[in-house]
Amino acid sequence: MNSTIRIGDITIHRIVEKQYGFAPAREFLPTLTAEVLEENRAWLGAALDAADRLVLCFQSYVVRTPHHTVLVDSCIGNDKERPTRLGWHRKTDTAFIDGLAAVGLGVEDIDIVMCTHLHGDHVGWNTRLENGRWVPTFPRARYLFSARELDYWSGEHTRSPLVAMEDSVLPIVAARRADLITSDHALNDHVRLLPTPGHTPDHFAVRLGHGRDDAVITGDLLHSPLQARIPELSMGSDFNPALAALTRRSFLERYCDTPTLCCTAHFPAPSVGHLKRWGNGFRCEATA
Ligand SMILES: [Zn+2]
Repeated sequence: MNSTIRIGDITIHRIVEKQYGFAPAREFLPTLTAEVLEENRAWLGAALDAADRLVLCFQSYVVRTPHHTVLVDSCIGNDKERPTRLGWHRKTDTAFIDGLAAVGLGVEDIDIVMCTHLHGDHVGWNTRLENGRWVPTFPRARYLFSARELDYWSGEHTRSPLVAMEDSVLPIVAARRADLITSDHALNDHVRLLPTPGHTPDHFAVRLGHGRDDAVITGDLLHSPLQARIPELSMGSDFNPALAALTRRSFLERYCDTPTLCCTAHFPAPSVGHLKRWGNGFRCEATA
């Protein structure tokens, strides 16, 4: 299921941790009506399972530029206490580490880890359990977090403990491995961020390419192809569902009918394609 894409002098690897029917479509997208689900069922294909759950892929993108090897988002991780998340709780599989190895990478090869936002399925492999302590998985990496995003979730964590902050984010800060950035940060000639707030307060997308956007990694500004078709469908747990919908539509407009390859965080495999207009919405057309 993993795949490798070469564009210009950049190589992008999809490292898949798992893909499965994650949540009932009408729970995940609370404004989705039964009628609209029916109207769209035929084309959704692998994005909807037999129990009407949205099928999501959980994956990282590894970006190799001439200068760095960058991991964008770090999936679910192992040994994390996630009792309310089917498929995440105390996971022990080796899919993620094996996926890195299959493209010739070990954890020591990652120079930079970027988290588009600080939800559990984007920070999980930031850390691994060693003798009962959470330590950075990538021993040489600097970890880039949005300062505003970290500030927001740190505040929430103070009010009511958040497991993903506790086991996957704060240990990185404590180990002095975090670099705090703004969501419009430019890492170098090849990697630039695009602020895409709504799903979380300071979520960002990642633009790749020398002098132009050859590819863009979406993070969670959208989760399912159904949200490209109907950008107004926001997730129940979005920080600001109205802002998330505005951000989604403006992102889809920005890259629609351009050569930029759209690399989604959660669309089922192949997960990447080119954005095309489709009625009042959009679709992500897989590249052959
Ligand atoms: Zn996610």
